[in-house]
Amino acid sequence: MDTYQHILLALDYSAQGGLLAQRAKDLAEKYQAKLSIVHVLDNIPMPDTGYGTVIPLAQDSGYGLLEAEKTKLMQVGNQLGVAQADRWMIWGSPKQEIVQLAEREQVDLIVVGSHGRHGLSLLLGSTANSVLHYARCDVMAIRLLNA
Ligand code: AMP
Repeated sequence: MDTYQHILLALDYSAQGGLLAQRAKDLAEKYQAKLSIVHVLDNIPMPDTGYGTVIPLAQDSGYGLLEAEKTKLMQVGNQLGVAQADRWMIWGSPKQEIVQLAEREQVDLIVVGSHGRHGLSLLLGSTANSVLHYARCDVMAIRLLNA
């Protein structure tokens, strides 16, 4: 393979998310690849909505915390020009859901930040580290400086 066709950007909205998003956009343009984005909800309690773990973005849940998360994903999606169908919000464990989504959607490059909300004291954050170990495709960790 000499080019990437489908790039998945994993977003946790931490301080340097703008840099991460820009890198993913640049890579997608360089390779003329499809760009998808995912945010995994691991920090808000999930009400019994009747949804599965993949949150439908077009439907109003009536749950403020969830709608606020959707708004953030939509803003980044709009900034990056990501198609609605390629924006993902999934409830669960980021390290597992990112890898599983990448397999399901035939992603060939996952882009993560070296550190996010959880990993400031580590050389490589725990989500980034785990994705690197378990993904079956290439993973690019964008070096983000500790705040
Ligand atoms: P961490 O390993 O938690 O410090 O985070 C490193 C990177 O993993 C972040 O910059 C994101 O790219 C990704 N990541 C962490 N948490 C999430 C999440 N909840 N949803 C999507 N991506 C995440």
